[in-house]
Amino acid sequence: AAVDNAPAIVVGSGYGAAVAALRLGQAGIRTLMIEMGRLWNTAGSDGKIFCSTAAPDQRSMWFRTRTEAPLATFLWLDVVNKDITPYPGVLDRVHFANMSVFVGRGVGGGSLVNGCMAVTPLKSYFAEQFPTVDADEMYATYFPRANSMLGVNTVDPAWFESTEWYRFTRISRKHAQNTGLKTTFVPSTYDFAYMQKEAAGTATKSALAQEVIYGNNFGKKSLDKTYLAAALGTGNVTITTMERVRAISRASDGSYVLTADRINDAGTVVETKQYSCTYLFLGGGSLGTTELLVRARDTGTLPALDASVGAGWGPNGNTMLGRANHLWDTVGANQSTMPVMGIDDWANTANPVFAEIAPLPTGLEHWVSLYLAITKNPQRAAFTYDSATDGVKLGWTAAQSAVSSGMAKKLFDRINSANVTIYRTDLFGSSNRTFADDFTYHPLGGCVLGKATDNYGRVKGYSKLYVTDGSLVPGSIGVNPFVTITALAERTMARVLVEDTAP
Ligand code: FAD
Repeated sequence: AAVDNAPAIVVGSGYGAAVAALRLGQAGIRTLMIEMGRLWNTAGSDGKIFCSTAAPDQRSMWFRTRTEAPLATFLWLDVVNKDITPYPGVLDRVHFANMSVFVGRGVGGGSLVNGCMAVTPLKSYFAEQFPTVDADEMYATYFPRANSMLGVNTVDPAWFESTEWYRFTRISRKHAQNTGLKTTFVPSTYDFAYMQKEAAGTATKSALAQEVIYGNNFGKKSLDKTYLAAALGTGNVTITTMERVRAISRASDGSYVLTADRINDAGTVVETKQYSCTYLFLGGGSLGTTELLVRARDTGTLPALDASVGAGWGPNGNTMLGRANHLWDTVGANQSTMPVMGIDDWANTANPVFAEIAPLPTGLEHWVSLYLAITKNPQRAAFTYDSATDGVKLGWTAAQSAVSSGMAKKLFDRINSANVTIYRTDLFGSSNRTFADDFTYHPLGGCVLGKATDNYGRVKGYSKLYVTDGSLVPGSIGVNPFVTITALAERTMARVLVEDTAP
């Protein structure tokens, strides 16, 4: 196979990768991005690029015969998931022994499928998680830079108070207030001016048409509209898709050699390619990057990688739950898919929880209040190489998940007690489960900043090799993570372009 040479290669095209590519391109460094998923720019037979959660088709999930939505059932019935044809769809659910991880696949990574909640973490908790990072500089320079580049905006409070589309949020806020809890608006990368037009009937509905985890056709400022568009605009960045990087090694001249499997729409490997580069930036996300480095270390292609590569992983304390409301507390048949508010009990040092008020749009009144709780679960796990599959195993246990649910339960028991309400037990399969703590939207860690890398994401043991994504975050950040991942990548690139790439 031919060797394509670019001075810099970026693996992946999510948040960390997109920041790296833009800043490399602006510095005049020719850069190739390699993404395993599709470029989502072509409409299907229905005229749309993405499908909705109401009518999932092959575009929904990464090579599945049936969708695997986070909410599996309704009234214990298997009415949510649908049979589909295997295809490189946009949402993947990667299964480990006791934890499954949702990730985006395609140009834009998680930005294609996420809920757009763009939250800057509490400065004190950021400093606790990143003791070696200058927090003042982060909050003065890199968080503002990330928010501005990502196009973060906030819902108009007057419209929020009046629209039927956020009735579900106002009901949950009322129940939090009845409990004496604080709620807070959360910013978003969904364009609220567009959403207001959707509500007014003057623009094609997307967030108001049950589009989110399988992609949004309108309104969402995903990375392909922001960082990646700007990166391509430099003229120095190109993106190749449907190629999964499998192996990384180092040539005798110090350059990196990548082996990538090119797949077709059936998932068959049609070609194995090799690439070489001087600078290698890993942005495959917590799962993608950590797997590549654990494999490289343990198969001996990059033997000098640190022993801490693979360690320090956590699910950001995620657990999902639903509450059943009284008949008079209707949540509305019409719900926006974009969350705009959280219950913020992080200051409660005995039991810190930040719970996003999540939508459950079905087009019918169902009296369910849904939440994605982010708890301060201190448990961490490690990825280990599995030679039988040439993949990785994750050592996370059900008991570690129970810590997240226990914390969420303490908070929501209070809310239920203050409002005389109960949990819904019909949403997460047939076994009357209250807390769905066996999946996460927020995989974090595996190549932790300052442990597997130096203080700027330079991988220990090798020069000109960098990690720029969620694997740098040590398992927990207390809020939805993409703003933090983006800001840390900005900080890395600012440093690396000054210190490492000078001629
Ligand atoms: P990712 O965005 O995961 O990007 C990694 C990319 O690399 C992917 O495109 C992947 O296909 C590609 N890749 C991986 N391995 C390879 C390889 N070997 N070769 C080639 N390509 C590879 N966060 C928030 O802050 N707010 C939210 O509202 C929110 N909601 C979410 C909802 C859902 C359903 C999900 C799944 C996530 C949500 N998140 C949210 C999490 C957020 O999307 C992630 O934290 C973020 O995308 C991680 O960024 P990253 O740069 O680490 O990697």
